[in-house]
Amino acid sequence: MPKDNPGAKTRRRQTNLVRGGLNRSHFDEISEAMYLSSSYAYDSAEQAARAFKGEEDHYLYSRYGNPTVTMFEDRLGVMEGASICQSTASGMGAMFASLACLLKAGDRLVASKALFGSCDYVCTVLMPQYGVEVETVASADLDEWEKALSKPTNAVFLESPSNPMMQILDIAAIADMAHKAGARLIVDNVFATPLFQKPLDLGADIVMYSTTKHIDGQGRTLGGAILTNDESYYQDHLRMFIRHTGPTLSPFNAWVLTKSLETMDLRIRQQAENAAQIAKALNELPEITKVVFPGLDSHPQYDLVQKQMSGPGTMVVFELDGDQARTFRFMNALEVIDISNNLGDAKSMVTHPTTTTHQRMKPEERAALGINENTVRLSVGLEDPLDLIEDIEQALKA
Ligand SMILES: *Cc1c(COP(=O)(O)O)cnc(C)c1O
Repeated sequence: MPKDNPGAKTRRRQTNLVRGGLNRSHFDEISEAMYLSSSYAYDSAEQAARAFKGEEDHYLYSRYGNPTVTMFEDRLGVMEGASICQSTASGMGAMFASLACLLKAGDRLVASKALFGSCDYVCTVLMPQYGVEVETVASADLDEWEKALSKPTNAVFLESPSNPMMQILDIAAIADMAHKAGARLIVDNVFATPLFQKPLDLGADIVMYSTTKHIDGQGRTLGGAILTNDESYYQDHLRMFIRHTGPTLSPFNAWVLTKSLETMDLRIRQQAENAAQIAKALNELPEITKVVFPGLDSHPQYDLVQKQMSGPGTMVVFELDGDQARTFRFMNALEVIDISNNLGDAKSMVTHPTTTTHQRMKPEERAALGINENTVRLSVGLEDPLDLIEDIEQALKA
């Protein structure tokens, strides 16, 4: 739980990304200390008793909290404008905890259908096993959301832009509908990144990240985070769930992620610029039949992108003039860009959603989301964009 960060509200974003949460030891180190400790010593039995009663601030056990993990949570919390930041061992740890801490048998969940594969599994397979009634909405059409939210509901889960087809959902409008139905709105903000979309400002109650993606940004660690200003969500639900089920972020990963935040703004901004340049170049290539990128005015929801995002993100999706075999030949011929299902990395990578991230879906479900056998998802990194464009051009000739 973030402590009060003196000055954090008045200082600017980049300063907070470098210094937020800084908590120096008596050695006065410049770089944040890494406390690889699972447990903590007390001066006396009386102090241990006071700490367990909550009468004295003292770390108890690293499943509950750790100084290095706290630094990361404080820094990310300031960045997001959230008074509460709870880190987790992975993005899925965050996603599952955000719902599982809240919902019980008989409750109702409305979820977007255009979700990251594992999030779809949690919503449509696990939650029903626990007796939660689940309704999914495939469309961005607000009438469909209005219909789904015409009954009392406990939680709404959505992702915008969605993986991989960049469906944009109107977060402010859906937040209003969710609140009228009695639900809390949880937004998976991974594709938008913490830089380009502020779900809490748009009316969402909870935002979650896979910090594995842009926040690490260099492909080293798994991690996740849940951020909110909703005290009762944290105190009555999330806090005890995390403490007693153990999806805790390791201090080593927290340290890597803390240092990553220092360069996050610079990295994501440059990656987004590279992505915009590549999306424009792809649009000109005759072998590419479709490009989806929130920064192109050809995006079907470009107006909504302008309204709720301050930048386009780093992901570009496109279709080739051919079948799956042609698409695989293209991917196999890439010399700079890697084939990998991760994203947000400094290294650019492509994936074929139909046979990887979305292979679990039925073909008709994929078709409804616009994912075809010639669809390629590109995560744009920090290489020189001209080299990336040349790599794509040479691979198209394969
Ligand atoms: C990667 C990802 C997740 C899951 O995060 P992990 O860190 O892999 O567990 C959830 N949502 C989205 C949109 C993602 O891209």
